[in-house]
Amino acid sequence: MSLDGAKVALVGGGVIGGGWAGRLVEHGFDVAIYDPHPDSERRVREMLDNAERAWSRLTMAPRRRGKARFCASLAEAVADAGFIQESAPEREDLKRKILAEIDAHARPDALIGSSTSGLLPSKLQAGMRRPERFFVGHPFNPVYLLPLVEVCGGEKTSETVLDRALAFYAGIGMKPLRIRKEIDGFVADRLLEALWREALWLVHDDVATTEEVDDAIRYGAGLRWAMMGTFLVYRIAGGEDGMRHFMAQFGPALKWPWTKLMDVPELTASFIDKIAEQSDAQAGGLSIRDLERKRDDGLIAIMQGLKIEDFAAGRLLAGHEARLYEASGHNAPTTQDPAKPLALHGATARPDWVDYNNHMTEARYCQVFSDTTDAFLIHVGMSEDYRREAGTFFTVETHTRLLGEVRGLEPVSVTTQVLKADEKRLHLFHEMRHGRTGELVATSEHMLLHVDAQSRRSAPMREPVAGTVADIALAQANLPQPEGAGRRVGDRP
Ligand code: NAD
Repeated sequence: MSLDGAKVALVGGGVIGGGWAGRLVEHGFDVAIYDPHPDSERRVREMLDNAERAWSRLTMAPRRRGKARFCASLAEAVADAGFIQESAPEREDLKRKILAEIDAHARPDALIGSSTSGLLPSKLQAGMRRPERFFVGHPFNPVYLLPLVEVCGGEKTSETVLDRALAFYAGIGMKPLRIRKEIDGFVADRLLEALWREALWLVHDDVATTEEVDDAIRYGAGLRWAMMGTFLVYRIAGGEDGMRHFMAQFGPALKWPWTKLMDVPELTASFIDKIAEQSDAQAGGLSIRDLERKRDDGLIAIMQGLKIEDFAAGRLLAGHEARLYEASGHNAPTTQDPAKPLALHGATARPDWVDYNNHMTEARYCQVFSDTTDAFLIHVGMSEDYRREAGTFFTVETHTRLLGEVRGLEPVSVTTQVLKADEKRLHLFHEMRHGRTGELVATSEHMLLHVDAQSRRSAPMREPVAGTVADIALAQANLPQPEGAGRRVGDRP
Protein backbone atom coordinates (compact mmCIF):
# COMPACT_ATOMS: atom_id res chain seq x y z
CA MET A 1 0.00 0.00 0.00
CA SER A 2 1.33 3.46 -0.80
CA LEU A 3 2.09 6.13 1.77
CA ASP A 4 -0.98 8.20 1.06
CA GLY A 5 -4.25 7.69 -0.61
CA ALA A 6 -5.99 4.94 1.34
CA LYS A 7 -8.62 5.99 3.86
CA VAL A 8 -8.25 4.55 7.33
CA ALA A 9 -10.91 4.06 10.00
CA LEU A 10 -10.11 3.79 13.70
CA VAL A 11 -12.64 2.14 15.99
CA GLY A 12 -11.78 3.14 19.54
CA GLY A 13 -9.99 6.43 20.20
CA GLY A 14 -8.32 5.92 23.59
CA VAL A 15 -4.60 5.78 24.35
CA ILE A 16 -3.92 3.40 21.47
CA GLY A 17 -6.55 4.56 18.95
CA GLY A 18 -5.36 8.16 19.48
CA GLY A 19 -1.77 7.02 18.97
CA TRP A 20 -2.68 5.32 15.67
CA ALA A 21 -4.45 8.54 14.64
CA GLY A 22 -1.24 10.49 15.34
CA ARG A 23 1.01 8.16 13.32
CA LEU A 24 -1.41 7.98 10.39
CA VAL A 25 -2.15 11.71 10.19
CA GLU A 26 1.61 12.41 10.29
CA HIS A 27 1.89 10.14 7.22
CA GLY A 28 -0.73 11.87 5.13
CA PHE A 29 -3.71 9.61 5.84
CA ASP A 30 -7.20 10.95 6.39
CA VAL A 31 -8.60 9.01 9.34
CA ALA A 32 -12.22 8.54 10.38
CA ILE A 33 -12.58 7.82 14.10
CA TYR A 34 -15.46 6.30 16.03
CA ASP A 35 -15.47 6.21 19.84
CA PRO A 36 -18.69 6.59 21.87
CA HIS A 37 -16.95 8.30 24.81
CA PRO A 38 -18.01 11.97 25.09
CA ASP A 39 -14.40 13.14 25.66
CA SER A 40 -12.82 11.09 22.92
CA GLU A 41 -12.48 13.89 20.35
CA ARG A 42 -10.69 16.17 22.84
CA ARG A 43 -8.38 13.34 23.89
CA VAL A 44 -7.54 12.32 20.34
CA ARG A 45 -6.90 15.96 19.35
CA GLU A 46 -4.40 16.20 22.21
CA MET A 47 -2.69 13.05 20.95
CA LEU A 48 -2.58 14.51 17.43
CA ASP A 49 -0.82 17.60 18.85
CA ASN A 50 1.67 15.36 20.66
CA ALA A 51 2.29 13.37 17.49
CA GLU A 52 2.83 16.50 15.38
CA ARG A 53 5.24 17.88 17.95
CA ALA A 54 7.12 14.57 18.12
CA TRP A 55 7.43 14.04 14.34
CA SER A 56 8.54 17.62 13.73
CA ARG A 57 11.44 16.85 16.12
CA LEU A 58 12.08 13.31 14.97
CA THR A 59 12.72 13.99 11.30
CA MET A 60 13.24 16.76 8.79
CA ALA A 61 12.00 14.53 5.98
CA PRO A 62 9.14 16.20 4.10
CA ARG A 63 5.72 14.80 4.92
CA ARG A 64 2.14 15.72 4.13
CA ARG A 65 -0.25 15.71 7.10
CA GLY A 66 -3.67 14.11 6.79
CA LYS A 67 -6.87 15.01 8.60
CA ALA A 68 -8.85 13.42 11.42
CA ARG A 69 -12.65 13.22 11.22
CA PHE A 70 -14.88 12.12 14.10
CA CYS A 71 -17.94 10.04 13.23
CA ALA A 72 -21.22 9.56 15.05
CA SER A 73 -21.42 5.85 14.28
CA LEU A 74 -19.14 2.92 13.60
CA ALA A 75 -20.89 2.31 10.27
CA GLU A 76 -20.10 5.86 9.10
CA ALA A 77 -16.44 5.59 10.14
CA VAL A 78 -15.70 2.31 8.33
CA ALA A 79 -17.93 2.82 5.27
CA ASP A 80 -15.26 3.90 2.73
CA ALA A 81 -12.09 2.80 4.53
CA GLY A 82 -9.51 0.53 2.92
CA PHE A 83 -7.84 -0.18 6.28
CA ILE A 84 -9.57 -0.43 9.66
CA GLN A 85 -7.85 -0.68 13.03
CA GLU A 86 -9.89 -1.66 16.09
CA SER A 87 -8.55 -0.38 19.45
CA ALA A 88 -11.50 -0.93 21.81
CA PRO A 89 -11.13 -2.11 25.43
CA GLU A 90 -9.39 -5.45 25.99
CA ARG A 91 -12.47 -7.65 26.44
CA GLU A 92 -13.00 -10.58 24.14
CA ASP A 93 -16.82 -10.40 24.13
CA LEU A 94 -16.83 -6.66 23.38
CA LYS A 95 -14.18 -6.94 20.69
CA ARG A 96 -16.02 -9.81 18.97
CA LYS A 97 -19.22 -7.75 18.94
CA ILE A 98 -17.43 -4.69 17.54
CA LEU A 99 -15.58 -6.77 14.93
CA ALA A 100 -18.86 -8.31 13.75
CA GLU A 101 -20.23 -4.80 13.29
CA ILE A 102 -17.12 -3.66 11.42
CA ASP A 103 -17.33 -6.78 9.25
CA ALA A 104 -20.95 -5.98 8.36
CA HIS A 105 -20.36 -2.34 7.36
CA ALA A 106 -16.86 -2.37 5.86
CA ARG A 107 -16.03 -2.61 2.17
CA PRO A 108 -15.47 -6.27 1.22
CA ASP A 109 -11.83 -5.55 0.31
CA ALA A 110 -11.03 -3.62 3.52
CA LEU A 111 -8.34 -5.01 5.84
CA ILE A 112 -9.27 -5.23 9.53
CA GLY A 113 -6.61 -5.19 12.25
CA SER A 114 -7.02 -5.38 16.02
CA SER A 115 -4.68 -3.70 18.51
CA THR A 116 -5.31 -6.40 21.14
CA SER A 117 -2.40 -6.87 23.52
CA GLY A 118 -2.87 -10.61 23.81
CA LEU A 119 -6.22 -12.03 22.69
CA LEU A 120 -5.96 -14.76 20.09
CA PRO A 121 -6.88 -13.74 16.54
CA SER A 122 -8.57 -17.11 15.86
CA LYS A 123 -11.03 -16.41 18.66
CA LEU A 124 -11.60 -12.77 17.65
CA GLN A 125 -12.30 -13.65 14.01
CA ALA A 126 -14.56 -16.64 14.80
CA GLY A 127 -17.87 -14.79 14.31
CA MET A 128 -16.87 -12.77 11.24
CA ARG A 129 -18.42 -13.33 7.82
CA ARG A 130 -15.10 -12.54 6.14
CA PRO A 131 -12.57 -13.72 8.73
CA GLU A 132 -9.79 -14.06 6.14
CA ARG A 133 -9.24 -10.28 6.13
CA PHE A 134 -8.73 -10.05 9.91
CA PHE A 135 -5.40 -10.05 11.82
CA VAL A 136 -3.84 -8.66 14.97
CA GLY A 137 -1.62 -5.57 14.66
CA HIS A 138 -0.41 -5.09 18.22
CA PRO A 139 1.35 -1.72 18.65
CA PHE A 140 3.17 -0.07 21.58
CA ASN A 141 2.47 3.15 23.40
CA PRO A 142 3.08 5.83 22.10
CA VAL A 143 2.00 4.34 18.79
CA TYR A 144 2.97 7.50 16.90
CA LEU A 145 6.64 7.06 17.91
CA LEU A 146 7.40 3.43 18.78
CA PRO A 147 7.92 1.46 15.57
CA LEU A 148 7.12 -2.09 16.75
CA VAL A 149 3.84 -3.69 15.69
CA GLU A 150 3.36 -7.44 16.23
CA VAL A 151 1.38 -8.93 13.36
CA CYS A 152 -0.38 -12.22 13.96
CA GLY A 153 -2.94 -14.03 11.83
CA GLY A 154 -5.58 -16.45 13.06
CA GLU A 155 -6.52 -19.85 11.60
CA LYS A 156 -8.69 -18.21 8.96
CA THR A 157 -6.48 -15.23 8.05
CA SER A 158 -5.26 -15.26 4.46
CA GLU A 159 -1.54 -15.01 3.70
CA THR A 160 -2.18 -12.23 1.19
CA VAL A 161 -3.92 -10.19 3.85
CA LEU A 162 -0.98 -10.64 6.21
CA ASP A 163 1.46 -9.56 3.50
CA ARG A 164 -0.63 -6.46 2.80
CA ALA A 165 -0.88 -5.64 6.50
CA LEU A 166 2.91 -5.99 6.93
CA ALA A 167 3.47 -3.67 3.95
CA PHE A 168 0.94 -1.14 5.20
CA TYR A 169 2.54 -0.89 8.66
CA ALA A 170 6.04 -0.70 7.17
CA GLY A 171 4.83 2.15 4.95
CA ILE A 172 3.99 4.25 8.01
CA GLY A 173 7.48 3.83 9.45
CA MET A 174 6.82 0.80 11.64
CA LYS A 175 8.75 -2.41 12.25
CA PRO A 176 6.16 -5.14 11.72
CA LEU A 177 7.17 -8.33 13.52
CA ARG A 178 5.37 -11.35 12.13
CA ILE A 179 4.44 -13.67 15.00
CA ARG A 180 5.13 -17.25 13.91
CA LYS A 181 2.63 -18.99 16.20
CA GLU A 182 -0.61 -17.79 17.69
CA ILE A 183 0.06 -17.43 21.40
CA ASP A 184 -1.58 -15.46 24.25
CA GLY A 185 0.30 -12.20 24.79
CA PHE A 186 2.36 -12.67 21.59
CA VAL A 187 6.10 -12.08 22.08
CA ALA A 188 6.63 -8.63 23.53
CA ASP A 189 3.92 -8.68 26.19
CA ARG A 190 5.09 -12.06 27.46
CA LEU A 191 8.51 -10.53 28.06
CA LEU A 192 7.07 -7.37 29.56
CA GLU A 193 4.75 -9.29 31.83
CA ALA A 194 7.61 -11.38 33.20
CA LEU A 195 9.47 -8.21 34.11
CA TRP A 196 6.34 -6.58 35.51
CA ARG A 197 5.59 -9.57 37.78
CA GLU A 198 9.08 -9.49 39.19
CA ALA A 199 8.95 -5.69 39.64
CA LEU A 200 5.70 -5.99 41.62
CA TRP A 201 7.24 -8.62 43.89
CA LEU A 202 10.30 -6.45 44.57
CA VAL A 203 8.07 -3.53 45.63
CA HIS A 204 5.69 -5.83 47.52
CA ASP A 205 8.54 -7.36 49.54
CA ASP A 206 10.09 -3.92 50.24
CA VAL A 207 13.26 -4.86 48.39
CA ALA A 208 12.98 -1.69 46.29
CA THR A 209 10.66 1.27 45.70
CA THR A 210 9.02 1.89 42.33
CA GLU A 211 11.71 4.48 41.60
CA GLU A 212 14.53 2.11 42.53
CA VAL A 213 13.12 -0.61 40.28
CA ASP A 214 12.95 1.90 37.43
CA ASP A 215 16.51 3.07 38.15
CA ALA A 216 17.69 -0.53 38.02
CA ILE A 217 16.33 -0.65 34.47
CA ARG A 218 17.01 2.78 33.03
CA TYR A 219 20.63 3.16 34.17
CA GLY A 220 21.58 -0.32 33.04
CA ALA A 221 19.89 -2.95 30.93
CA GLY A 222 17.32 -0.49 29.53
CA LEU A 223 20.08 1.43 27.75
CA ARG A 224 21.35 -1.77 26.16
CA TRP A 225 17.92 -3.07 25.22
CA ALA A 226 17.17 -0.19 22.84
CA MET A 227 20.26 -1.07 20.89
CA MET A 228 20.54 -4.86 21.04
CA GLY A 229 17.68 -6.53 22.89
CA THR A 230 18.53 -9.50 25.10
CA PHE A 231 20.19 -12.20 22.99
CA LEU A 232 22.76 -9.99 21.29
CA VAL A 233 23.65 -8.35 24.61
CA TYR A 234 24.22 -11.74 26.25
CA ARG A 235 26.27 -12.91 23.30
CA ILE A 236 28.68 -10.07 24.02
CA ALA A 237 28.53 -10.88 27.75
CA GLY A 238 29.85 -14.34 26.86
CA GLY A 239 33.15 -12.78 25.81
CA GLU A 240 35.07 -14.06 22.82
CA ASP A 241 33.38 -17.45 23.07
CA GLY A 242 30.01 -15.75 22.69
CA MET A 243 26.66 -17.39 23.34
CA ARG A 244 27.89 -20.90 24.14
CA HIS A 245 30.13 -19.60 26.90
CA PHE A 246 27.38 -17.35 28.23
CA MET A 247 24.95 -20.29 28.40
CA ALA A 248 27.54 -22.48 30.14
CA GLN A 249 28.36 -19.80 32.70
CA PHE A 250 24.93 -18.41 33.53
CA GLY A 251 22.63 -21.23 32.42
CA PRO A 252 22.80 -23.13 35.73
CA ALA A 253 21.68 -20.00 37.63
CA LEU A 254 18.28 -20.30 35.94
CA LYS A 255 17.58 -23.27 38.21
CA TRP A 256 18.22 -21.24 41.34
CA PRO A 257 14.99 -19.80 42.78
CA TRP A 258 15.79 -16.14 42.05
CA THR A 259 12.55 -15.20 40.38
CA LYS A 260 8.89 -15.56 41.25
CA LEU A 261 7.57 -15.69 37.73
CA MET A 262 4.84 -18.26 38.24
CA ASP A 263 3.23 -16.22 40.97
CA VAL A 264 1.77 -12.75 41.39
CA PRO A 265 1.45 -10.72 44.58
CA GLU A 266 -2.10 -10.36 45.89
CA LEU A 267 -3.33 -7.00 44.53
CA THR A 268 -4.85 -5.89 47.85
CA ALA A 269 -6.03 -2.31 48.40
CA SER A 270 -3.05 -1.63 50.65
CA PHE A 271 -0.56 -2.95 48.06
CA ILE A 272 -2.14 -0.83 45.34
CA ASP A 273 -2.01 2.20 47.69
CA LYS A 274 1.67 1.53 48.29
CA ILE A 275 2.47 1.40 44.56
CA ALA A 276 0.35 4.46 43.76
CA GLU A 277 1.92 6.52 46.58
CA GLN A 278 5.48 5.58 45.59
CA SER A 279 4.63 6.32 41.97
CA ASP A 280 3.23 9.78 42.91
CA ALA A 281 6.42 10.57 44.82
CA GLN A 282 8.52 9.34 41.89
CA ALA A 283 6.66 11.56 39.37
CA GLY A 284 7.72 14.63 41.42
CA GLY A 285 4.60 16.64 40.60
CA LEU A 286 4.87 16.25 36.81
CA SER A 287 1.52 15.80 35.07
CA ILE A 288 0.84 12.94 32.67
CA ARG A 289 1.17 15.41 29.76
CA ASP A 290 4.59 16.58 31.10
CA LEU A 291 5.70 12.98 31.44
CA GLU A 292 4.45 12.13 27.95
CA ARG A 293 6.54 14.95 26.47
CA LYS A 294 9.63 13.92 28.41
CA ARG A 295 9.09 10.35 27.26
CA ASP A 296 8.62 11.44 23.65
CA ASP A 297 11.69 13.70 23.64
CA GLY A 298 13.77 10.92 25.19
CA LEU A 299 12.57 8.39 22.61
CA ILE A 300 13.37 10.82 19.80
CA ALA A 301 16.88 11.37 21.18
CA ILE A 302 17.44 7.61 21.40
CA MET A 303 16.18 6.95 17.88
CA GLN A 304 18.27 9.79 16.45
CA GLY A 305 21.31 8.49 18.35
CA LEU A 306 20.72 5.00 16.97
CA LYS A 307 20.39 6.50 13.50
CA ILE A 308 23.96 7.75 13.72
CA GLU A 309 25.00 4.23 14.73
CA ASP A 310 22.93 2.75 11.85
CA PHE A 311 21.42 0.25 14.25
CA ALA A 312 17.99 -1.11 15.27
CA ALA A 313 15.24 1.57 15.40
CA GLY A 314 17.75 4.16 14.10
CA ARG A 315 18.41 2.17 10.92
CA LEU A 316 14.65 1.81 10.46
CA LEU A 317 14.23 5.58 10.85
CA ALA A 318 16.95 6.29 8.28
CA GLY A 319 15.31 3.95 5.74
CA HIS A 320 11.91 5.48 6.39
CA GLU A 321 13.28 8.99 5.92
CA ALA A 322 14.87 7.98 2.61
CA ARG A 323 11.47 6.74 1.39
CA LEU A 324 9.74 9.94 2.59
CA TYR A 325 12.22 12.08 0.66
CA GLU A 326 11.74 9.92 -2.39
CA ALA A 327 7.95 10.03 -2.09
CA SER A 328 8.03 13.82 -1.82
CA GLY A 329 10.08 14.02 -5.01
CA HIS A 330 7.76 11.67 -6.82
CA ASN A 331 4.80 13.74 -5.69
CA ALA A 332 6.28 16.88 -7.21
CA PRO A 333 4.63 17.92 -10.45
CA THR A 334 6.61 16.38 -13.31
CA THR A 335 4.82 18.30 -16.02
CA GLN A 336 6.70 21.53 -15.34
CA ASP A 337 8.24 23.51 -18.15
CA PRO A 338 11.98 22.80 -17.79
CA ALA A 339 12.77 26.16 -19.38
CA LYS A 340 11.47 27.96 -16.27
CA PRO A 341 12.66 27.76 -12.65
CA LEU A 342 11.16 24.56 -11.20
CA ALA A 343 8.71 24.64 -8.28
CA LEU A 344 9.57 21.43 -6.45
CA HIS A 345 9.31 22.18 -2.76
CA GLY A 346 7.20 24.09 -0.25
CA ALA A 347 6.92 24.09 3.53
CA THR A 348 5.08 25.65 6.43
CA ALA A 349 7.01 27.29 9.28
CA ARG A 350 6.11 25.01 12.17
CA PRO A 351 5.70 26.62 15.61
CA ASP A 352 8.98 25.10 16.81
CA TRP A 353 10.85 26.61 13.83
CA VAL A 354 10.25 30.12 15.18
CA ASP A 355 12.76 31.96 17.40
CA TYR A 356 12.54 34.73 20.01
CA ASN A 357 12.04 37.29 17.19
CA ASN A 358 8.89 35.35 16.31
CA HIS A 359 10.13 34.43 12.86
CA MET A 360 11.69 31.40 11.20
CA THR A 361 15.24 30.74 12.41
CA GLU A 362 18.22 30.89 10.08
CA ALA A 363 18.70 27.14 10.47
CA ARG A 364 15.18 26.46 9.18
CA TYR A 365 15.72 28.65 6.08
CA CYS A 366 18.79 26.52 5.40
CA GLN A 367 16.79 23.35 6.05
CA VAL A 368 14.08 24.37 3.56
CA PHE A 369 16.76 25.13 0.95
CA SER A 370 18.48 21.83 1.65
CA ASP A 371 15.15 19.98 1.28
CA THR A 372 14.63 21.85 -2.00
CA THR A 373 17.99 20.61 -3.27
CA ASP A 374 16.93 17.08 -2.31
CA ALA A 375 13.61 17.53 -4.13
CA PHE A 376 15.54 18.68 -7.22
CA LEU A 377 17.87 15.67 -7.04
CA ILE A 378 14.93 13.29 -6.77
CA HIS A 379 13.30 15.13 -9.69
CA VAL A 380 16.36 14.44 -11.88
CA GLY A 381 16.36 10.74 -11.03
CA MET A 382 18.38 10.35 -7.84
CA SER A 383 16.89 7.27 -6.20
CA GLU A 384 18.07 5.02 -3.37
CA ASP A 385 19.33 2.60 -6.05
CA TYR A 386 21.24 5.38 -7.80
CA ARG A 387 22.86 6.44 -4.53
CA ARG A 388 23.84 2.89 -3.70
CA GLU A 389 25.16 1.91 -7.13
CA ALA A 390 26.18 5.07 -8.98
CA GLY A 391 26.83 8.01 -6.71
CA THR A 392 25.49 11.00 -4.89
CA PHE A 393 25.98 14.75 -4.64
CA PHE A 394 27.88 16.60 -1.93
CA THR A 395 27.10 20.29 -1.41
CA VAL A 396 30.49 22.03 -1.34
CA GLU A 397 29.52 25.72 -1.13
CA THR A 398 26.42 27.77 -0.35
CA HIS A 399 25.48 31.42 -0.04
CA THR A 400 22.15 32.29 1.58
CA ARG A 401 20.44 35.68 1.80
CA LEU A 402 17.58 36.27 4.24
CA LEU A 403 15.45 39.07 2.80
CA GLY A 404 12.05 38.86 4.49
CA GLU A 405 10.35 37.46 7.56
CA VAL A 406 8.40 34.21 7.74
CA ARG A 407 6.32 33.82 10.90
CA GLY A 408 5.02 30.69 12.58
CA LEU A 409 2.53 28.66 10.49
CA GLU A 410 3.13 30.81 7.39
CA PRO A 411 3.78 28.90 4.13
CA VAL A 412 6.75 29.27 1.77
CA SER A 413 7.42 27.90 -1.68
CA VAL A 414 10.77 27.58 -3.43
CA THR A 415 11.79 27.61 -7.09
CA THR A 416 15.05 26.27 -8.46
CA GLN A 417 17.11 27.53 -11.40
CA VAL A 418 20.08 25.63 -12.78
CA LEU A 419 22.77 28.26 -13.30
CA LYS A 420 25.27 25.82 -14.73
CA ALA A 421 25.99 22.12 -14.91
CA ASP A 422 28.86 20.06 -16.27
CA GLU A 423 29.59 16.36 -15.95
CA LYS A 424 30.52 16.63 -12.26
CA ARG A 425 29.20 19.96 -11.01
CA LEU A 426 25.73 21.32 -10.47
CA HIS A 427 25.23 25.03 -9.71
CA LEU A 428 21.74 25.80 -8.36
CA PHE A 429 19.93 28.98 -7.34
CA HIS A 430 16.84 28.71 -5.11
CA GLU A 431 14.33 31.53 -4.54
CA MET A 432 12.02 31.24 -1.53
CA ARG A 433 8.76 33.19 -1.66
CA HIS A 434 6.14 33.79 0.97
CA GLY A 435 3.28 31.41 0.22
CA ARG A 436 0.57 34.05 0.71
CA THR A 437 2.10 37.35 -0.44
CA GLY A 438 4.55 36.05 -3.05
CA GLU A 439 7.27 38.29 -1.52
CA LEU A 440 10.85 37.08 -2.08
CA VAL A 441 11.97 36.15 1.44
CA ALA A 442 15.29 34.40 0.81
CA THR A 443 17.64 33.12 -1.87
CA SER A 444 20.31 30.48 -1.72
CA GLU A 445 23.03 29.55 -4.17
CA HIS A 446 24.54 26.06 -4.03
CA MET A 447 27.46 24.32 -5.69
CA LEU A 448 27.14 20.54 -5.67
CA LEU A 449 29.75 17.99 -6.63
CA HIS A 450 28.85 14.56 -7.92
CA VAL A 451 30.79 11.80 -6.14
CA ASP A 452 31.19 8.10 -6.81
CA ALA A 453 29.17 5.78 -4.53
CA GLN A 454 32.20 3.71 -3.50
CA SER A 455 35.27 5.98 -3.64
CA ARG A 456 33.35 9.07 -2.40
CA ARG A 457 35.54 11.10 -4.78
CA SER A 458 34.29 13.42 -7.52
CA ALA A 459 33.09 11.47 -10.55
CA PRO A 460 30.89 12.14 -13.60
CA MET A 461 27.13 11.84 -13.15
CA ARG A 462 25.53 8.73 -14.58
CA GLU A 463 22.20 8.07 -16.22
CA PRO A 464 19.41 8.92 -15.68
CA VAL A 465 20.68 11.85 -13.60
CA ALA A 466 23.28 13.06 -16.13
CA GLY A 467 20.82 13.31 -19.03
CA THR A 468 18.05 15.00 -17.04
CA VAL A 469 20.41 17.55 -15.51
CA ALA A 470 21.87 18.32 -18.95
CA ASP A 471 18.37 18.76 -20.44
CA ILE A 472 17.28 21.16 -17.68
CA ALA A 473 20.55 23.13 -17.85
CA LEU A 474 20.15 23.50 -21.61
CA ALA A 475 16.48 24.52 -21.35
CA GLN A 476 17.31 27.14 -18.70
CA ALA A 477 20.49 28.42 -20.37
CA ASN A 478 18.77 31.55 -21.68
CA LEU A 479 17.07 32.52 -18.43
CA PRO A 480 18.41 35.80 -17.02
CA GLN A 481 20.87 35.48 -14.12
CA PRO A 482 18.77 35.86 -10.96
CA GLU A 483 19.38 39.00 -8.94
CA GLY A 484 21.86 38.10 -6.22
CA ALA A 485 23.55 35.21 -8.02
CA GLY A 486 27.32 35.23 -7.53
CA ARG A 487 27.16 37.64 -4.57
CA ARG A 488 29.62 37.44 -1.74
CA VAL A 489 28.92 38.20 1.89
CA GLY A 490 29.15 41.96 2.39
CA ASP A 491 28.47 43.00 -1.24
CA ARG A 492 26.32 46.11 -1.44
CA PRO A 493 22.64 45.46 -2.08
P1 NAD B 1 -8.44 2.88 26.39
O1 NAD B 1 -9.32 2.53 27.52
O2 NAD B 1 -7.53 4.05 26.52
O3 NAD B 1 -9.30 3.11 25.07
C1 NAD B 1 -10.35 2.29 24.68
C2 NAD B 1 -11.36 3.17 23.97
O4 NAD B 1 -12.35 2.36 23.38
C3 NAD B 1 -12.05 4.16 24.91
O5 NAD B 1 -11.85 5.49 24.46
C4 NAD B 1 -13.50 3.74 24.83
O6 NAD B 1 -14.40 4.84 24.91
C5 NAD B 1 -13.58 3.08 23.47
N1 NAD B 1 -14.71 2.20 23.28
C6 NAD B 1 -15.46 1.56 24.21
N2 NAD B 1 -16.47 0.89 23.60
C7 NAD B 1 -16.34 1.11 22.27
C8 NAD B 1 -17.09 0.72 21.14
N3 NAD B 1 -18.16 -0.07 21.24
N4 NAD B 1 -16.69 1.14 19.93
C9 NAD B 1 -15.62 1.93 19.80
N5 NAD B 1 -14.87 2.35 20.84
C10 NAD B 1 -15.23 1.93 22.06
O7 NAD B 1 -7.61 1.56 26.06
P2 NAD B 1 -6.29 1.44 25.19
O8 NAD B 1 -5.12 1.41 26.12
O9 NAD B 1 -6.31 2.42 24.09
O10 NAD B 1 -6.42 -0.06 24.62
C11 NAD B 1 -7.13 -0.34 23.44
C12 NAD B 1 -6.65 -1.67 22.88
O11 NAD B 1 -5.25 -1.56 22.60
C13 NAD B 1 -6.79 -2.84 23.83
O12 NAD B 1 -7.09 -3.99 23.10
C14 NAD B 1 -5.41 -2.96 24.46
O13 NAD B 1 -5.11 -4.26 24.90
C15 NAD B 1 -4.55 -2.59 23.29
N6 NAD B 1 -3.21 -2.08 23.63
C16 NAD B 1 -3.02 -1.22 24.68
C17 NAD B 1 -1.74 -0.75 24.97
C18 NAD B 1 -1.46 0.25 26.07
O14 NAD B 1 -0.28 0.41 26.45
N7 NAD B 1 -2.44 0.97 26.58
C19 NAD B 1 -0.65 -1.16 24.17
C20 NAD B 1 -0.89 -2.00 23.09
C21 NAD B 1 -2.18 -2.46 22.83
